[in-house]
Order: sequence, then C-alpha cells, then structure tokens
Amino acid sequence: MDLHEYQAKEIFRGAGIPVPPGKVATTPEQAEEIAREIGGLVVVKAQVHTGGRGKAGGVKLAKTPEEARDHASNILGMDIKGLTVEKVLVTPGEDIDTEAYAAVLVNRETQAPMFMVSAEGGVDIEQVADENPDAIRKLDVDPRYGLLPHQAYQLGVALYDDPKLQRQAAKIMSQLYTAFVNAGASLAEINPLITTPSGEVKAIDAKVSIDDNELFRRPEIAEYRDTSSEPEAETAAREAGLTFIKLDGNVGCCVNGAGLAMATMDLVKFYGGEPANFLDIGGSSNPEKVVNALKIITADPAVKVILFNIFGGITRTDDVANGIIEALDQIEIDVPIVIRLTGTNEEIALKILSDAGFEAYSTMDEVVKKAVDLATAAAPAGA
Ligand code: GDP
Ligand code: MN
Repeated sequence: MDLHEYQAKEIFRGAGIPVPPGKVATTPEQAEEIAREIGGLVVVKAQVHTGGRGKAGGVKLAKTPEEARDHASNILGMDIKGLTVEKVLVTPGEDIDTEAYAAVLVNRETQAPMFMVSAEGGVDIEQVADENPDAIRKLDVDPRYGLLPHQAYQLGVALYDDPKLQRQAAKIMSQLYTAFVNAGASLAEINPLITTPSGEVKAIDAKVSIDDNELFRRPEIAEYRDTSSEPEAETAAREAGLTFIKLDGNVGCCVNGAGLAMATMDLVKFYGGEPANFLDIGGSSNPEKVVNALKIITADPAVKVILFNIFGGITRTDDVANGIIEALDQIEIDVPIVIRLTGTNEEIALKILSDAGFEAYSTMDEVVKKAVDLATAAAPAGA
C-alpha cells in the first residue's frame, strides 16, 4: 500500500525527522486559508501515488495566499500519470542549498533492509543509477541489530563534507530506519533531503510504501488507505479477496496461485504479448470468485482476450468452469476467452466448457500462444 506524501510525513515527524509543517486542502479556498496561516512563501503539492510530480506541474511555489489558491485550482483535478489529484499539501517554501537522496528499502537478494543514499538528490534516483551509479552509496542493515550508530554516521559522511551536516544526517538516518521498521514499510524514501542556507538538514518530500502483509497488525496505518487514489480495479479485487495488479498490456490473465500467475505472465511475454494484469484467484473453490475476477478484468477496455490458466489441486476445476458460465450470464463479455484447466475434476470441467461451446486447451504453451495471437489480431502492433 502506498501512502501519500502528507501521510508519510506524519510518520516521519513521529520518528523525529525534521519535516516542515503543512496541511491538506481539497479546495482552492482551503489552500488559500492554509497559505495565509503559514504566511510567506508556500509550496502547493499534488497528493498522488507517484513521483515526478514536480516535472508534471504538480508542485508549485506561491508567494501569496491568492497565488496558492490559483495553483491549487490548477493542480486539483489535474491528471498525473493517469491519477487524478484530489488533495494538495500546502507547506512552507524552504530555502534550498543542496538536494540529496536517502532511502531504506527491502533488498530482496539479501532479504534484509538496505540504505541507499546519494548527494545527487531531487532527481529520479533511477536516472542517477543509470548515469552515475558510483554516486549512490548502498549499505546493508542486519535486522537483528538495526542501523548501528557508526553505520548511520557513514551514511552522513557519504552525503556531506561538513561535520555539522553529517551529524544531522546520521541522526535522520537512524530515525528513518525506526520509521521504516515501525510502519512495516517496504520503502521509506526522502527525495530531496535538503540543506538550508542556515545549515539545517530537512526532509521536504516523503514516500512510504507499506507491505500489505503488515497491515493487519498496524490498524492505525491501515487507516491511511485512500481507495479514491487507487486504481478502482485493485480496490474491487481486494474486497473480493483476489490478488490483482493492473498492468499495461492487453492479455487479461486469470490464474490460480501466485507462482503459476507469474509463470503465465512470463509465457505471455515469451510469445510476444503483454499481460493486462496479474490476477491470482487463490486456492479455494468458489465460482463467485471467478465471476468477480471476470468483472474486474473486463472492466479494463485495453483487454482484448481473457486467458484462464487453472491448475486444480484444492481448486476444483469444475467450480472454475461453472464460474465462467455464471459470469457469462451476468456480464456481457465481448472479447474471446481461452481456457486451460487441468487437475481436480478436469473431465467434468471440460464437459461443462465444451457444452457451452468453449475449446479447452491442455497445455500452457498452446493456450498462451492462442491468447497472444488473438490479442495481436485484435490490436495489431503499431495500430
Ligand atoms: P516530486 O517531483 O514528486 O518528487 O516532488 P518533490 O516534493 O520532490 O518536489 C520536486 C522539486 O520541487 C524538489 O526537488 C525541489 O526542487 C522543489 N521543491 C519542493 N519543495 C520546495 C520548497 O519548499 N522550496 C523550493 N525552493 N523548492 C521546492
Ligand atoms: Mn521528490
């Protein structure tokens, strides 16, 4: 689950990190009012779950409350990378000397937290990683001991030459680590971490992603969920007990089991197609889940074909087949559906499907190739 900047900043403040104050507005008038309270230069910032808001025109400085109102009225409703801005954060404008980058994330290779810091902040860290990888300092943390004081200091030294700034940065790194662990985060990022002309180090942007599996024991963080800023399909899927992630392709995938779903997506790519989603309908036998899955997949206008790949263990393939037939009764599906199912009650399932006029495939290769062919025919490359 991604948090908004203002929510991530609340978490950072709670851990003691120096973060400028600020308030959220949903109307231009509110933004004006907050700017007046703050007084002087303010920044109006789009609250959406993506970076690069500055480049997209979603971060604007305002010298007067009236100007803050005008910026807010432009930014509210703005589309940034497909997301509609519904809230803005109004925060004091800081004098910036330097912009650095600092983050702690889960390193999947070491299965442990890792810091990444760079004196080249403010820009996309991916760009720094491509063009100047030596400018990024990485440091692994042993989760048994946490970030040790000398490690925090090393990170400070990697960022600044001035010992006063190094010490402030070291403290912020420890606080960032505490915030990361306590929130159950998979990522806690400050970009930019600024220095001011008066020699202070502060976080003026904040990004936190929470591991969904940590939410059940952190109800106060689960409350941060803002369904209005998630893709609608992801909310619907979560409520239906499905694991769904929207992707950019046109082959809608409906698979049981995360591993098989990944393998299916790999094979779609192998045959030259692009998956429209990751979807794991889970291990239980329940036609209703299939109906919900099909509703979610077909709501995406990019989908040109629906590919079922079901391995029946605990999942009964006849339940899946019945779910498909039920779904066709309930929703109008005007894209082809190709199905491969194998395992428990396969004969019954194949009979149900052939009675309904479906051709069923027995191997993954065949069915994926067929799905990619159909998608390509419906949306030829370059068309
Ligand atoms: P992002 O583009 O989504 O990462 O949003 P940021 O919060 O990082 O803002 C983008 C850029 O706007 C920063 O790198 C700064 O250069 C600038 N910016 C943000 N807040 C301030 C501020 O308070 N004062 C000044 N002068 N610039 C700011
Ligand atoms: Mn940023």
